[in-house]
Amino acid sequence: MQHRKLAFIGAGNMTRSIIAGLVASGYPADHIMASNRSRPKLDALAADYGIKVTQSNGEACEFADAIVLSVKPQMMEDVCAALQQDTDLSGKLYISIAAGLPVERLQQMLGAEYPVVRVMPNTPSLLGQGMSGLYADSSVNEDDRNYVDGVMSAVGKTLWVTEEDGINGVIAAAGSSPAYFFLFLQAMQEESMRMGFSEDDARLLVQQAMLGAAQMVCENPDLMLSELRAQVTSKGGTTAAAIQSFIDSDISGIVSKAMQSAVARADEMA
Ligand code: NAP
Repeated sequence: MQHRKLAFIGAGNMTRSIIAGLVASGYPADHIMASNRSRPKLDALAADYGIKVTQSNGEACEFADAIVLSVKPQMMEDVCAALQQDTDLSGKLYISIAAGLPVERLQQMLGAEYPVVRVMPNTPSLLGQGMSGLYADSSVNEDDRNYVDGVMSAVGKTLWVTEEDGINGVIAAAGSSPAYFFLFLQAMQEESMRMGFSEDDARLLVQQAMLGAAQMVCENPDLMLSELRAQVTSKGGTTAAAIQSFIDSDISGIVSKAMQSAVARADEMA
């Protein structure tokens, strides 16, 4: 991976997880600077990863060739307006991880059509098991795309979408979906408890089943998901009875409706 000078504007959870992944993968800590409104998170980042830190967003921008915009979407306009006043923003690559802000809107906020890559990570990035969707328009060159891909690969897998709308699909399938699995597991845990298991034992049963199932999916890329299911479903057996119950309750329709709701909400927020 190229080791450009990289700044993070906003040093919250997502910034911390990306920096952790980058430093662990050998990215030089002295090529990374984070800025944040308040001090404590900066001190922790400097102590834990040896990166440079500042409370001046302008100083971070001046330091860097590539800048990750990592404040909450509702803060972005004010942050960019202040940056424009403090600093020359030209000649740099911008990487936005802010949900719901299109490239054109970000460029308006930055005051010019600078190259912007949009990234939609998810929370398992905090564990290095993230799934990030990436989008850039045709003004972003191959070198810049490869660089951003490398940065996000430090915290998980990446997938490029060719249309900006595709980012909303990424939100529905990967950004929001860890919570769908938590909901499903919660329902299973609750039913296991009604069957007599303690809360801890019920959680162990369902979380280990999920982990094992996820690993089987990942380790068998040539098998379709329906084939994996068929392998553990004997005709007339217990699994078949449970699966038939899901099908009778229109599991596909339920999931489709939920994912479309996520897309609709992302459209509203844009
Ligand atoms: P977060 O933990 O709340 O971090 C945001 C940080 O921005 C805070 O540390 C805050 O500082 C700082 N900040 C606010 N105003 C600032 C300013 N004017 N100058 C400098 N720093 C400022 O949020 P997060 O979860 O990391 O999310 C960051 C971005 O990632 C958001 O745009 C979010 O939409 C996106 N995202 C997050 C996730 C996720 O799972 N967390 C997933 C996808 C996308 P203080 O400590 O002083 O408040």
